[in-house]
Amino acid sequence: MRFENFIGNRRVVERLRLKLREGRFPHGLIFTGPEGVGKRTFALMLAKALNCAESGPDEFCDECSQCRKIEAGTHPDVLTLGLEDEASEIKIAQVRSLLQMLELRPSEGRNKVFLVDPADAMNAASANALLKGLEEPPENSYFILLSPNPQSLLITVRSRSQTYPFLPLTIDEMRAFSSDELALRWSRGSIGKLKTLDLDALRQRRGVALGFLETAIRAGEQELRNLIGASAEIARSKSDFDPNMDTLAVLVEDLLYCSEGLTDKIVNVDLEKNLARLASEIEAPQLVRIADFLRTIEIHANNYGNRQMLTDMLALTSNTFVGKFADDIPGKSR
Ligand SMILES: [Zn+2]
Repeated sequence: MRFENFIGNRRVVERLRLKLREGRFPHGLIFTGPEGVGKRTFALMLAKALNCAESGPDEFCDECSQCRKIEAGTHPDVLTLGLEDEASEIKIAQVRSLLQMLELRPSEGRNKVFLVDPADAMNAASANALLKGLEEPPENSYFILLSPNPQSLLITVRSRSQTYPFLPLTIDEMRAFSSDELALRWSRGSIGKLKTLDLDALRQRRGVALGFLETAIRAGEQELRNLIGASAEIARSKSDFDPNMDTLAVLVEDLLYCSEGLTDKIVNVDLEKNLARLASEIEAPQLVRIADFLRTIEIHANNYGNRQMLTDMLALTSNTFVGKFADDIPGKSR
């Protein structure tokens, strides 16, 4: 694989290749953006270009021993600082041992490249220690910090580095990796998500979530108890709860697109007819209220005991009969 084969985020790729060509490659880089869009892959490509024995300065061969060792993660001058087993933070001791390496000359390659992944796992002490390396980096050493959540990095770390945002891939860019329309749309521009997506499990979860919405929206006055049964099913297992809520959120978003006539934006393309029918049975403001309630659940669902209560409330919020009643409460501001 070469730079030209890297899919998505071409502007970032070309800007940093230019810096390699011009010999002014930044010593501190921060790559931001969602998981699975190629931040780490591209960082390793840069490490190869900085060390490749055959091509350069803005290209790499991917075949020489330097490139191959970097690919295999065994190059002594290209190191990743990450989470150790079961740890939730990058420890200061890890940063210190990395900084000791900083003092030494590269042992095999031309340049030392240190990846910090994920950089937001550094606590304040670790980040402050790393700052020392970023403040006075030796000429032949480079730091690349990968962070989905750059706001959590120390401002001093950010100010010593150049930040490059990575965007989700477009559907057309994603087509290089799959031809399944549903998988492409569910992955939301993340190659990582696409590669780990279990379509069978997704379809099953989606069936349950759609069944819940249909019951919740359509249940009449006499059938309100059905709502509770339907909500029990999606709230039953703790491990399935978050994926179920995500699935519901995507379906509700699709319903909103249907009601706005933006059907080309829907994720669940294979369910378009069902979704359009369901969307025609519910008013748009009520759909917005369901979407808002799903966000509330996202915030509060860590409390184990609350799951069923939250989904009961979601069912009631979604119900056309009860929902209308809520609309009629005088003086309710929206
Ligand atoms: Zn090479």
